[in-house]
Amino acid sequence: SIRAPLTKKTTTLTVAVKCRPLTERERGRGRDIVRVNHDKEVQVLDPDLSKDYLERIQNRTKERKYSFDYAFGPHSTNSEVYKKSISSIIAGVVQGLNATVFAYGSTGSGKTYTMVGTRDDPGLMVLSLHTIFDLIKGDNSSDEFKVTCSYLEVYNEVIYDLLERSSGHLELREDPEQGIIVAGLRSIKVHSADKILELLNLGNSRRKTESTEVNETSSRSHAVLEITVTRKQRNNYRTQVIKGKLALVDLAGSERASETNSGGQKLRDGANINRSLLALANCINALGKQQKKGLAYVPYRNSKLTRILKDGLSGNSQTVMIATISPADNQYHHTVNTLKYADRAK
Ligand code: ADP
Ligand code: MG
Repeated sequence: SIRAPLTKKTTTLTVAVKCRPLTERERGRGRDIVRVNHDKEVQVLDPDLSKDYLERIQNRTKERKYSFDYAFGPHSTNSEVYKKSISSIIAGVVQGLNATVFAYGSTGSGKTYTMVGTRDDPGLMVLSLHTIFDLIKGDNSSDEFKVTCSYLEVYNEVIYDLLERSSGHLELREDPEQGIIVAGLRSIKVHSADKILELLNLGNSRRKTESTEVNETSSRSHAVLEITVTRKQRNNYRTQVIKGKLALVDLAGSERASETNSGGQKLRDGANINRSLLALANCINALGKQQKKGLAYVPYRNSKLTRILKDGLSGNSQTVMIATISPADNQYHHTVNTLKYADRAK
């Protein structure tokens, strides 16, 4: 069956928050200051206030309460996050729509866990690919499908291929037919979701990471998995090709460079990370406004990341932001910053 072309014109933005559990180490020394209420609302308790006082005010105070499309507490699995906030957009991708999902949060808040996950709790990148293959398997038209993946990182405003052992710098090109492309980026054909977790872990081991005083596994790069579904429809006389692209982005830590208290090379890295992150933040804010008030200019051209993501942030696309937070008291400021940002975006 040939479906009518989809005519939705505006980009839809969904904002979800995921609070991870306290880690073993944090349980030993820290306190849990985040409450998730009714799957929608997140409340952060000021760690400077006494515990008794907090218990008493918890149900009354309006302070530091934020509500979102979805809020997930420490017991939610990636699969739950996926089902509620992502699964419905995947069907669109198989029908030729573009979509972007990104994890935004400070280092250590659970971005990579949410996007890549583990064998026991596969992340959104893995689960999305599973659904794509399920939908293709269940499709009863005579359409032909092809699924390809690329995995890149933007570090210091330079693009690298995470599917190559030692990738050189890659450049962005404007292609008259395909729009903005990353020249020379490897794109691999995949036939099932089976090997994707290994592939992502291998790619992540190639990411440029550098220890800062914030966290030894601090990641300063943005990683973008792009899944393209090409659908060939044969209509008596002609063949129509439809492409849907899903970009899943594990962003660099959202903490500010000045807070990492490190100099020289690292500070420059930080400033450049902010360029892509800031540009994305501005695009998201513009999309939020567009959704509320109609047209608004979305400034895509200001960074490598936003140029790469342009197709998935404009036109017929769906965008989902998963803001990740830690429940630990020593992350209070990062948590509040992330929630404020996510709150402004919606
Ligand atoms: P980020 O990528 O934002 O820097 P990570 O995804 O590496 O953060 O998470 C930081 C730590 O918290 C890791 O040890 C990770 O395994 C753990 N973690 C994150 N989210 C969860 C979760 N939902 N369940 C269990 N552990 C988690
Ligand atoms: Mg990470």
